Amino acid sequence: MIRMLLIGPPGAGKGTQARHITEKHGIVAISTGDIFRHNVKSQSPLGRAAESYMNAGKFVPDTITNEMVRDRLNQPDAQDGFLLDGYPRTAAQVGFLDEALAGMGHKLDVVLQLVVDRDELVQRLLRRAVSENRTDDTAEVIRERMALYFEQTTSVTSLYSQRGLLTKVEGIGTVSHVAQRVATALDVKLGASLTL
Ligand code: AMP
Repeated sequence: MIRMLLIGPPGAGKGTQARHITEKHGIVAISTGDIFRHNVKSQSPLGRAAESYMNAGKFVPDTITNEMVRDRLNQPDAQDGFLLDGYPRTAAQVGFLDEALAGMGHKLDVVLQLVVDRDELVQRLLRRAVSENRTDDTAEVIRERMALYFEQTTSVTSLYSQRGLLTKVEGIGTVSHVAQRVATALDVKLGASLTL
């Protein structure tokens, strides 16, 4: 059983690796972006509240996001482990998650970060933009999105690094190579925490 975060930039193959991990360990994947998109589609009250922020490329306010995450973590299928993706994204959300998990008598086992060189990422996203005909994804827009990601991520990863929870995995290579590296990193981390 694992309670973990998966962090990685756009284009790092995070979704694919998340599927490998959740299948192997029999845990649920919880992606805040997916939950929001699903609710926008169904036009639920949550979706209607989140929509304008998402369309503007902004964070949905913590008052909405935090409670949604707490509710999701309280559901029965999340009691035996989870992989959280897209949350926490700020130091304040890290603090909220700490409290929410402590309230349930739980804590995180590992924070896994997929690391891919920035230039390599830009190249990957440009290729994807061409193949998916996303003409608004120019090199400049992509670089800007990357810069924002790295800026935001550092505040979160440095907190978990101080706690000894952060494990970085090289995200370059075939899907199965990366999956192998992820599996090894998780085994090492979980094995190590068992012997502490
Ligand atoms: P994502 O697919 O993870 O990039 O999320 C899509 C959108 O959902 C983001 O651009 C935000 O508007 C919203 N969102 C997802 N996760 C969070 C979060 N942790 N805090 C605030 N907003 C979020």
